[in-house]
Amino acid sequence: MTVQGEGPSAGRRCAFLRLGGCNLSCRWCDTPYTWDWTGIGDTGVAYSARTELTTMASGELLERMLGFDVPLVVISGGEPLNQQRRLVPLVTGLLAAGRRVEFETNGTVVPDPQLLLPGVRFNVSPKLAHSGDPLRRRIVPKALRALAGLDGTAFKFVCRSPEDLEEVATVVDRWGTEPVWIMPEGRTVGELRDHLSALADAVIERGWNLTQRLHIDIWGDKRGV
Ligand code: SF4
Repeated sequence: MTVQGEGPSAGRRCAFLRLGGCNLSCRWCDTPYTWDWTGIGDTGVAYSARTELTTMASGELLERMLGFDVPLVVISGGEPLNQQRRLVPLVTGLLAAGRRVEFETNGTVVPDPQLLLPGVRFNVSPKLAHSGDPLRRRIVPKALRALAGLDGTAFKFVCRSPEDLEEVATVVDRWGTEPVWIMPEGRTVGELRDHLSALADAVIERGWNLTQRLHIDIWGDKRGV
């Protein structure tokens, strides 16, 4: 049990479900233990899928998630939509029990129609060039278009400097990825504060929203359990 740390629901009590595997390999990824089995990320650490990942049946997962007395379940990763078909029973079970669901996705996967239900929101974080991912992998037009067409979708871009905002504007103009939330890149309070200070005025000027990473402020870079 925790709070949502980022985006429009920041500060809301929630349960967090982190899934393994990702179809991107952002060099500054803050959850490399979900996918980086070769040490290609900035940390240089090669994690072990065998020790990091656990398989669980969706019925057991639903039971565990319902054990948390919170109104919101955040499903993140890695890239959770890589497993989206298998998540349908979990999501429908959560909704039936009165929970809301938010997916944290990198925006490269078209969402399954079975997940497009009242009470489900997609927080989409398209990656910019500084992620190190090739353009054709990080920008998937049909996925961005599909996600932008859904009620409630929020687009969250990780940025370091005002120069990054021009790249965000290009994506927004081209694929209609609004509303926009700009989030500073960083894994420490100091990095986040420096990047946020550098970005804030220009973000406000463009009429976009800002989000911090509340969990870093509270718990630092410590992994949840
Ligand atoms: S898309 Fe997200 S989880 Fe995947 S590598 Fe990039 S930052 Fe990490």
